[in-house]
Amino acid sequence: MKIKSLLGLLLGACASYLAPAALRAQDLGPHFTKIKDGIYVQTAKSTPQANSNASIVLTTEGVVLIDTGQTAIDTRELADAVKKLTAQPVRFSIDTETHPDHTYGHFMFPSAVIIGHEGGGEEMRQSFDPKRTAEQSKSSPELQAAMDGFRLITPQIEYAGDKMTLYVGERTFVLYSLGTTHSLANSAVWLPNERVLWGGAVAIEKQINTIRPHTNIPDMLAVMKMMTALNPEVVIPAHGPPTTTKMFADYSAYLETLLARVAALMKEGKSLDQIKQELKMPEYEDLAGAKERIPNNIEAAYRAIKAGYVPGS
Ligand SMILES: [Zn+2]
Repeated sequence: MKIKSLLGLLLGACASYLAPAALRAQDLGPHFTKIKDGIYVQTAKSTPQANSNASIVLTTEGVVLIDTGQTAIDTRELADAVKKLTAQPVRFSIDTETHPDHTYGHFMFPSAVIIGHEGGGEEMRQSFDPKRTAEQSKSSPELQAAMDGFRLITPQIEYAGDKMTLYVGERTFVLYSLGTTHSLANSAVWLPNERVLWGGAVAIEKQINTIRPHTNIPDMLAVMKMMTALNPEVVIPAHGPPTTTKMFADYSAYLETLLARVAALMKEGKSLDQIKQELKMPEYEDLAGAKERIPNNIEAAYRAIKAGYVPGS
């Protein structure tokens, strides 16, 4: 009798924990992929440049989100998925970067403490334009309805330096600073026990990204090397479907090729304008964003070489 009731208790406890995880990813809707038990990614919408990922990590002590959706419509879907998976609250939400397509969904998770790298909140406040946000929300009645109650929420916790570790329930989250390699405050999120890595926006697959004036290509190469060395099984990029470290290898190869070609033209005494006209990247021209963004990437490569970077070093 004693054993039986103990067994019943144990089974009950297991069932209450396992029941949410047993929910199939397809029950959450077409945008969700189950990565591992209790780890789900809302990912890859139809348009290649509007496909920010947002992730749900269940723990025995509540939910941790990583980014909060491309638009408020996506965020609402994310919040609904959390409710289907667990009755527990969202405890933390980690920002991999500061841009609106990763952070403007925070307002739908009032129980969450937002965590980002140092300076992230400041960048978000500086770039926030309430008029523009209100205007954009009018693009569809559905979006306008989802934006109801919107307010800018910036990180309550900002960590400084290279990394911080967050322990929630049975899980360990290691946040690694990715410096200013995309926005002014970027983090990778590493789950060492599950071997899942959120790699931020330093690299993306099948498209070329903008390299802003505050970003150095050598820093991008360095953080991709650091993330590759973690040896993750799965890499969740800022945009696009879950992948592997091959994404870092491919993006690094693109940047190395760009640097080498820019350096060669600089050696011939060409100006930045001449290089922008002459330099060709035929292997990459078919990628999304290539036409508009390669000139901007050439500028970044030019800056790096001017500052002393030696390609292939
Ligand atoms: Zn971004």
